[in-house]
Amino acid sequence: MIATLPAGLASNPQPAEVLRWAYGNFSRVAIVASFQAESSVIIDIASRIRSDLSVLTLDTGRLPQETHDMIDRVRDRYGIPVDVVVPDADDIKDLVHAHGTNPFYRSPDLRRLCCEVRKSRPLAKALVGYDAWLTGVRRQQATTRSETQVVAEDLEHPGLVKVAPLAMWTKDHVWGYIRERDVPYHSLYDRGYTSIGCAPCTRATQPGEDERAGRWWWEQDEVKECGLHWTEHGLVRAASLPPGGGGSGWGGA
Ligand code: SF4
Repeated sequence: MIATLPAGLASNPQPAEVLRWAYGNFSRVAIVASFQAESSVIIDIASRIRSDLSVLTLDTGRLPQETHDMIDRVRDRYGIPVDVVVPDADDIKDLVHAHGTNPFYRSPDLRRLCCEVRKSRPLAKALVGYDAWLTGVRRQQATTRSETQVVAEDLEHPGLVKVAPLAMWTKDHVWGYIRERDVPYHSLYDRGYTSIGCAPCTRATQPGEDERAGRWWWEQDEVKECGLHWTEHGLVRAASLPPGGGGSGWGGA
């Protein structure tokens, strides 16, 4: 399915246009940052449009130190706060009690449960009160993302619009932007990582491997997604917004 863009956005819009459209049509917009390269680009573009950015990130409790370092570098570079969202303590206690500290290595179902507890549930809580959220997902990253919509109704978080400004961009576009503007980027890329998540679930990749091959690398023939951007039944449908975007239950400005 090809993205259906709402009125007000030209076909094949550049990320800056998409961001301007989002900030112009929704009052409460969250950038949900993983602090991978795509987050760096989105935050840099957004900082040129707005000074009062809302940036959220999920601290699963298992992130590499380098991700925490990156969060601080972004705070310092742009002078913006970053809301670090943590999982529910009782949920973590129950997960560890029932399945141990590293359940993800034991089965794909337990890996998905860990992602749900440490990522999906905290994100759902953190997004309450927002109208739209921005994500760095790109079509080229994986077959599961090949139909990513630039703007979509988020069926996983009813009432929210999910915006993927870089959906059409390639890896070269992302790194070209970062190099050209000297944008801060996660240090693990310089150690061979091509996708960065939790420390025990991510390794560097070899030349020629799929971009996301280092995620949950011990699993064979499993979908390399944690549930934030993909489920078996799909999470989103193309958004159909009225001109100007708002006032129709979409939470427009
Ligand atoms: Fe748990 Fe690994 Fe998912 Fe992080 S990536 S939430 S440690 S299963």
